[in-house]
Amino acid sequence: MVSLDQAIENSKNLFSTGEFISKLRSLVNIVTDSKNALSADDLASYYTDGILDILTELGLQTEIVDNPVKTGPPFLIGTRLESSELKTILLYGHGDTVPLQEGQWNEGISPNELKIIDEKIYGRGVADNKGQHLINLLALLSVLKTRKKLGFNLKIIFEMGEEIGSPGLFELCEQYKDYFASDVLIASDGPRVAVNVPTVFLGSRGAINFELEAKYREGAHHSGNWGGVLRDPGLRLSHALSAIADKYGKILIENWKPNSLSEEVRRRLKSLPTTISETLEIDENWGEPGLSSNEKLFGWNSFSILALKSGNIDVPVNAIQPSAKALCQLRFVVGTDANEVISYLRGHLDHHGFQDIEIIAENAINFEASRTNLNNIWLEKVEHILEKFHGDKIHVIPNLAGSLPNNCFTDILDIPTIWIPHSYKECSQHAPNEHVPIKLLKNSLLLMTDLYWHLGKGV
Ligand SMILES: [Zn+2]
Repeated sequence: MVSLDQAIENSKNLFSTGEFISKLRSLVNIVTDSKNALSADDLASYYTDGILDILTELGLQTEIVDNPVKTGPPFLIGTRLESSELKTILLYGHGDTVPLQEGQWNEGISPNELKIIDEKIYGRGVADNKGQHLINLLALLSVLKTRKKLGFNLKIIFEMGEEIGSPGLFELCEQYKDYFASDVLIASDGPRVAVNVPTVFLGSRGAINFELEAKYREGAHHSGNWGGVLRDPGLRLSHALSAIADKYGKILIENWKPNSLSEEVRRRLKSLPTTISETLEIDENWGEPGLSSNEKLFGWNSFSILALKSGNIDVPVNAIQPSAKALCQLRFVVGTDANEVISYLRGHLDHHGFQDIEIIAENAINFEASRTNLNNIWLEKVEHILEKFHGDKIHVIPNLAGSLPNNCFTDILDIPTIWIPHSYKECSQHAPNEHVPIKLLKNSLLLMTDLYWHLGKGV
């Protein structure tokens, strides 16, 4: 008998037989750090030696294509067309990771050797993003093996450059717009809001990075001989930064604020747990006054100083420094005038008497913000299926607080985007000891099997 139970059983067996873990182990073994200038061939081996066998089993016609941006790593694209009458789901994943940070992990764990400790799977990429797309691919395979068809068409995009800002993804989507034509993107990245409750998010915040510099002269000058008459760059820069955000992190540039915190967004955010983290203490008074923590995180913009430099704090000298520099970031939601952020900043600094502070902002927009509307038929479908599986309300957030190249799908391919994360906030992605609890991976695999099964029934 062909049934959902059988597909779920298939997926459960992937854990009981150790198949899931051994496949994930082989993916973690392939070092795919995109920041450390691995060659395109090295990175592409993740396709050929890593996931191609599953893609072939899924009956996908795949192709490795050069990156439209010359220096960028190649993409893997593919299609499986069952019928032009059926809906088409686009799947995205990235095989690259941040650097391994070898030697900084807990004793006995090396980042490219998968290791299980206390029911948690450790290894670079298990959360971001190898484990997550492996779940989706294997869930699809369970459905296909049981039903002998998916019940929808499947298209895929894999990249090896997400951690370096997805070079060429935008151009690829433009170039292959017809090839990728789909009804919806369903993909997985990032963390769940709460580990035991499925989460759906519909987009991501964007990020703009820029440097501020006060530079007055060459070389430092004795603070006894010159202190009091030489302009101090560290002091000037500190005041300029204070003009951007107040001492509680509230943004002071009016034009930097978003106009998208609608009643509907607020209503969705209200149903999330109010505790942001069990482990990290949140300062309730930090950020925009009057907003809840969830509104600040998912519905608002935040300004941060990522790095600060003047003189050498490890070897200080009694001297007025010649320059001071800060690397700053604005994380922003849709409804922010992203292209004007830097010119608004210039105007604001000038207005407050900081004409001497230079803004260095080449290619400032790291990621665009994007978000699929909450009133979307695909969200309705997916939410309904996931809730039935979970047996309770799930968490729906308008966008991830972090950033993803989601705008390629919403803005170029013009499709709704549904993200179903299979990790949790404590996973240490981008840090040593990246891990995911086995229970979460297992739950996600069954959840996705159930979802694909129902979507294939043409719900
Ligand atoms: Zn990442």
